[in-house]
Amino acid sequence: MQDNKLPRRTVLKGALAGLAAIPVVAAWTRADAAAALPNLDPADEQAKSFGYVLDTSKVDAKANPTHKPEQKCSNCLQFKGAAADASGPCVLFPGKSVEANGWCKVWAKKA
Ligand code: SF4
Repeated sequence: MQDNKLPRRTVLKGALAGLAAIPVVAAWTRADAAAALPNLDPADEQAKSFGYVLDTSKVDAKANPTHKPEQKCSNCLQFKGAAADASGPCVLFPGKSVEANGWCKVWAKKA
């Protein structure tokens, strides 16, 4: 009778290699998802209604007196991209990608 058991060390190495690959695959998937989304156009009617801008340093201070320079999409609660992403999905604008350095009036600090 043949023994078909794999050595325990081989099984553990395979399992660890599989676990190590999960964050890489997750990052690829997230990057692909963001890359597949079209950029939100600041001229879009909904974007305009929320005062969305591509660059938080360009926010009209008179029209948005509560805006602070450190507020940007990448540290907003609604931003679903990774911290290092240049752009990513936003809950407020489904199907679109917002700039990580962008801003709108709905900005709320990410916890
Ligand atoms: S809700 Fe937040 S992430 Fe979305 S556009 Fe506004 S500031 Fe950016």
